[in-house]
Amino acid sequence: MTECLFCAIVAGEIPATLVGETDRVLAFRDINPQAPTHVLVISKMHYPDVAALAAADGGLLGELITEAHQAAAAEGVGDSGYRVVFNTGEQAGQTVPHVHAHLLGGRSLTWPPG
Ligand code: AMP
Ligand code: ZN
Repeated sequence: MTECLFCAIVAGEIPATLVGETDRVLAFRDINPQAPTHVLVISKMHYPDVAALAAADGGLLGELITEAHQAAAAEGVGDSGYRVVFNTGEQAGQTVPHVHAHLLGGRSLTWPPG
């Protein structure tokens, strides 16, 4: 069994509900949704957070963000509005150390975030 949770999803060892996939990126539903639309977009290759991905492969980071916006359109929140966020590090509440964008939408999102 792969040690990293999201690497295990990429490997098909843990099931996930996919909503999009490219050669290098995977989009799937968050298991504990915080909004009517809550999708996680990850790189298939393991990077611990968005800073590590940005430093290693900016092109892949662009693919990940592009996939998030495509998923927003596919989920029907492209016009109503949505948020794409990378929790990065302890104070931001990152719990899974494999880079992932949260795509949130389908309700009014408050600002500032908690
Ligand atoms: P973060 O706290 O920003 O690191 O986000 C991690 C996210 O992964 C949380 O929103 C969790 O609900 C979500 N999550 C944890 N395990 C799974 C899983 N097996 N499938 C889908 N989402 C998951
Ligand atoms: Zn991983």
